Amino acid sequence: MPSPTNTGLHQELKNAVGELCRGFPDAYWRELDSQRAYPEAFVQALTKAGYMATLIPEEYGGAGLGVTEAATILEEIHHSGGNAAACHAQMYVMGTLLRHGSEAQKKKYLPVLARGELRLQAFGVSEPTTGSDTTQMKTFARRSGDRYVVKGQKIWISRAEHSDLMLLVARTTPLEQVKKRSEGLSVLLVDLRHAKNHGLTIRPIRTMMNHATTEVFFDDVEVPAENLIGEEGQGFRYLLDGLNAERILIAAECIGDGRWFLDRACRYAKDRVVFGRPIGQNQGIQFPLARAYANVEAASLMVGRAAALFDAHQPCGPQANMAKLLAADASWESANATLQTYGGFGFAEEYDVERKFRETRLYQVAPVSTNLILAYIAEHVLGLPRSY
Ligand SMILES: Cc1cc2nc3c(=O)[nH]c(=O)nc-3n(C[C@H](O)[C@H](O)[C@H](O)COP(=O)(O)OP(=O)(O)OC[C@H]3O[C@@H](n4cnc5c(N)ncnc54)[C@H](O)[C@@H]3O)c2cc1C
Repeated sequence: MPSPTNTGLHQELKNAVGELCRGFPDAYWRELDSQRAYPEAFVQALTKAGYMATLIPEEYGGAGLGVTEAATILEEIHHSGGNAAACHAQMYVMGTLLRHGSEAQKKKYLPVLARGELRLQAFGVSEPTTGSDTTQMKTFARRSGDRYVVKGQKIWISRAEHSDLMLLVARTTPLEQVKKRSEGLSVLLVDLRHAKNHGLTIRPIRTMMNHATTEVFFDDVEVPAENLIGEEGQGFRYLLDGLNAERILIAAECIGDGRWFLDRACRYAKDRVVFGRPIGQNQGIQFPLARAYANVEAASLMVGRAAALFDAHQPCGPQANMAKLLAADASWESANATLQTYGGFGFAEEYDVERKFRETRLYQVAPVSTNLILAYIAEHVLGLPRSY
């Protein structure tokens, strides 16, 4: 990875990532999309260039940069027309290991992750019957001597087939035995390579976009107790801790998507001539694009603000949530305005608009749905009664 100085750091990063992405043009992503295939070559190139080790401290072989720089990288991947969903989890999952892992765990895993010899791309939280109500999760890790025995089912676990490790959140104390429902959850680092032949089954789920997501079944999967991250029972706290980074980074991807859409839409609107003039001369085409642009720019400021607070170790829950809300809305607005600008051609695969349209729609639902963010802002920022 190029070692940027503080001056122009972000521009340098943007340029370097943009250069790498030029090796993976629209046709690359289009072809993978049609086959629902994993962008292995792209992930390998990113790893080789050091970008997957952005947040790993230098003492463990990483770049030692912050969420601000990680956001710049992910935004640029999306701005170039690519999709970082194939590998972004290694950036936000890393924080849990960094902040709550033991020194032995960090020494064991971080250098190999930094060298790209292992991938920590899977994050196992969601379950089929509990949805957004995470504390109700059923997957249970029972302590038995020097190991945990995990039983349960997770759903929507992206990249599980392409990752060596999974950060798993499971219950370690039954719900009826805890005072608060957020207690009794724990975080375990599961070695998927071993678990796959010992009780773990991964089944791909085909979705409307190319996302490598799966359901994962744990049938008495044994995990060494030394793979417990932090303290047993404190997992929900660690989870919340990592969610701000996740929201900021996904928001940056939405900003990249928004910029990609508007670049394409403006180019097309200038070129496409109907009724003897470019369609972009019509205010009916211009105004939705101008409004979407303003919203992308505003959301981008909030992403930058949230990332700066995060990197300064300041509380950033409201800003991270607002960044995700505003950026997902702005990218979706840009997607709609772009599809409309392209008219019928927007629906043709070869223009890539329909692909990006499907991809960016996800962010109204995952990793946290818009309603749940609004509920967070209402309760924790505006002080309104909890609605759920
Ligand atoms: C492609 C994809 C990839 C994913 N990757 C991962 C992953 O790698 N790891 C992982 O753990 N999870 C992953 N997820 C899961 C994702 O985080 C969840 O889908 C998301 O949090 C929403 O949960 P749910 O689907 O269970 O919806 P539900 O919780 O069932 O909600 C359904 C709808 O009801 C609304 N709703 C629910 N409760 C309320 C309320 N109290 N007030 C207002 N509205 C409410 C929601 O906003 C939503 O619109 C992924 C999902 C998808 C689709």
